[in-house]
Amino acid sequence: MKAVRLKRPGLVQIDEIERPEPGEGEVLLRVLAAGVCRTDCHIRAHPFATSANTTLGHEIAGEITAIGPGVVGWSTGQRAVVHPCWACHKCSQCRAGRENYCQGHGMQRFPPPTPGVTCNGGMAEFAIAPANSLVEIGDLDPAFAAVLADAGLAPYHSVRLLRDRLGPGSTALVIGLGGLGQFAVQLLKLCTPARVVAIDRAEAPLAARESGADTVLQADAPDLAEQLLEQTDGFGFAGIIDFVGSEQTLRLAASVAAPFGAIQAVGLTGGHIPFEAADMSTIGLPWGVTLMKPYSGSYRDLADVIALARQGKLSANLEHFPLEEAITAIDRLESGHINGRAVLLPNSK
Ligand SMILES: [Zn+2]
Ligand SMILES: [Zn+2]
Repeated sequence: MKAVRLKRPGLVQIDEIERPEPGEGEVLLRVLAAGVCRTDCHIRAHPFATSANTTLGHEIAGEITAIGPGVVGWSTGQRAVVHPCWACHKCSQCRAGRENYCQGHGMQRFPPPTPGVTCNGGMAEFAIAPANSLVEIGDLDPAFAAVLADAGLAPYHSVRLLRDRLGPGSTALVIGLGGLGQFAVQLLKLCTPARVVAIDRAEAPLAARESGADTVLQADAPDLAEQLLEQTDGFGFAGIIDFVGSEQTLRLAASVAAPFGAIQAVGLTGGHIPFEAADMSTIGLPWGVTLMKPYSGSYRDLADVIALARQGKLSANLEHFPLEEAITAIDRLESGHINGRAVLLPNSK
């Protein structure tokens, strides 16, 4: 079968390899869709945790074609999306429904095994996945389902964690209206009664500016913080999701958070701000503020996102590529020439 594999830093290519066999607790999927993500560009350039000959692709949807020993509850022909955190389902985090923070693999700073990152992923004609990582998608478009496993899951996780802050009369702020930010706006409107304000670059595509936010402000406005506070009668935002994560956006978030507000720093641009344990904060941290660096989402979160999508309540711009054009898709994403999300369709012929 064909598989898109990391060869060495800077080089990803399509190899012909043997079709894998499902082991204990695993299924073999005929891959119907594998999303291409910024993470794949990062892995190609700086393969930090990814070893040579790993098949890329952490956004996977497929049809079960073979079932390994010990798998119950799944049969061939069923279509499913793969949760990207291959959790142990036994540790205290998993038992609490926080599989994305699983500690069963024994490492404090690293997430659980991830297909396409630390083990073989879905940019191939066939892929192996643990049966307990699957969420059934039925007749949902597999390309959309694959994208939801990452670009829908992470925003949903943040929105769910903000729900108790975002009551009636509250205001939420979304920083950055790329693929994840557009989902965040849709999910905030679906799951909370909050007013939603978003900020993005002025040259952002129209689709982003029409994402459904109540107000969209330009990121480069000189008086942006004042404009944002005006949107909340001066009190600030009860929930903020920063999909950029630069020093500038984190500082902005800190300065416009409401008392007892919460900031979810999803974007990983490498910004840093001081967390000041002092009554006066130089960056404007209000009393009661919470700052969180969330990772992916729980198993329940993915089931929720798929349920919303199957009800027709979510949408995204998708651009399809055959598996043979995987390198082109990664190149185009890296150079900023994908409008929405790129998805490989390995078995579309
Ligand atoms: Zn991704
Ligand atoms: Zn666990």
